[in-house]
Amino acid sequence: MLTFLAHILCYDIWFYASHRALHWPQLWWIHQIHHEAVYPTWPDTHHGHWLESVVQCLGYGVPFICGVWSPWEAAAAAVVLQLRGLARHDPRTSWVDGGHHLVHHRRFTKNYGEPWLDWLCGTYAPPTRSNLFV
Ligand SMILES: [Zn+2]
Ligand SMILES: [Zn+2]
Repeated sequence: MLTFLAHILCYDIWFYASHRALHWPQLWWIHQIHHEAVYPTWPDTHHGHWLESVVQCLGYGVPFICGVWSPWEAAAAAVVLQLRGLARHDPRTSWVDGGHHLVHHRRFTKNYGEPWLDWLCGTYAPPTRSNLFV
């Protein structure tokens, strides 16, 4: 169970940091494809440049590098991360994160990652009606 959580925690922290970097003007050309969907649905989850897909999942591999992982927990974490990613891109299933990521697709400078990370880093925007329907 511990390495399952380690995969998810490392993924989330790396995803937040790399996602913020992808919004820098110098790297925006990589990430702007993903932002073509202002009102995304689940097929838009992986709509983007291949570099983005590679870079943003690197954090998942930290437990492998540290040598503390198990195949079943790594597989379970990959499934959970994949399903969570799909769910938070679709209004029908965005209850998973309370609409947090849908706000990011409308307000590019807010909600880069998990709500707790956005809150810690000062980029949190609540999924209110005015943030979701702009
Ligand atoms: Zn997205
Ligand atoms: Zn973004």
